[in-house]
Amino acid sequence: MIIVMSRSATDHDIEQVIKRLEQRGYGHHLSRGIERTVIGAIGAADAEKQALADNLQRLTGVERVVPILKPYKIVSRESHPRRSRVLFGSAEFGGTRVSVIAGPCTVESRAQLLATARAVGKAGAVALRGGAFKPRTSPYDFQGLGEEGLELLAEAREATGLPIVTEARDAAHVERVAEIADAVQIGARNMQNYELLRAAGQSGKPVLLKRNFSATVEEWLKAAEYVASSGTLDIVLCERGIRTFEPSMRNTLDLSAVYVAKRETYLPVIVDPSHATGDYRAVPSLSLAAIAAGADGLIVEVHPDPAKALCDGPQQLTPKRFARLMDELRAVAEAVGRTA
Ligand code: PEP
Ligand code: MN
Repeated sequence: MIIVMSRSATDHDIEQVIKRLEQRGYGHHLSRGIERTVIGAIGAADAEKQALADNLQRLTGVERVVPILKPYKIVSRESHPRRSRVLFGSAEFGGTRVSVIAGPCTVESRAQLLATARAVGKAGAVALRGGAFKPRTSPYDFQGLGEEGLELLAEAREATGLPIVTEARDAAHVERVAEIADAVQIGARNMQNYELLRAAGQSGKPVLLKRNFSATVEEWLKAAEYVASSGTLDIVLCERGIRTFEPSMRNTLDLSAVYVAKRETYLPVIVDPSHATGDYRAVPSLSLAAIAAGADGLIVEVHPDPAKALCDGPQQLTPKRFARLMDELRAVAEAVGRTA
């Protein structure tokens, strides 16, 4: 870390900083400029770094303490310059192909799930989504079929060959979800549920980590760091829209976050245009924009009869519209040197 002294810092203030660093076992490099003095701390031990920074910040004459290493070390691009490829079963994320996960918001019935799975597989989706444990904002809304939903997902995989992605809403679900699913989804509302992140990281399955609608990219990447430090680097990040002052859509799709997350980490980044917009009519254009902006894939909600959906009806595509979107997507993917 670097300690920037204020213009008015005295020699005594500088000595106090150096003394504090020495007490904690750190070396230092002193750089006296015309305007101000800067001290580089050498040999910071990770676990203590933040506490030391907070401590130094309180000393007289210290203007700022600037960390040098990213707070998300394991998932940082600095630690792996090569981009990772993550497999959800047979579906690969982070390669040349733009990989699309599709399926209903919620598993409602065998007929609904199988019809959707067949249709999205035929249209080119590489994995099936579907919520069994739904994180609903209201306790009175349909909470998902739970265990029965998981079994239907397994059946749909059997029938179509599509790997399945489903959410674990609670740390207590993770083991069972990981037993069935090819990837464990962490939903936006749970992005900072640290016990859940740890359990998902230890589950032995890859993790799809959605960004919370009020989280900064840095907080999102720190959440990924929780997963990574618990045992798996097979993480796919998902931008799904954030809350802004703009009320015309359900959320505001933050495409900058795709750029920033890909700049800062080596993890694949996908976009969820369904929850970002809340409106099926907006899903195609934002899907194409996401791919043009460098997203490695999409997760799209599709329902055979959206008007009858138990959850998120207004944003789900019909299978027909989804197939059309896949066609349009191929053209954009090709334009940016990828396939779909
Ligand atoms: C979902 O993908 O099923 C979901 C609930 O999305 P989010 O967590 O992004 O709201
Ligand atoms: Mn949904």
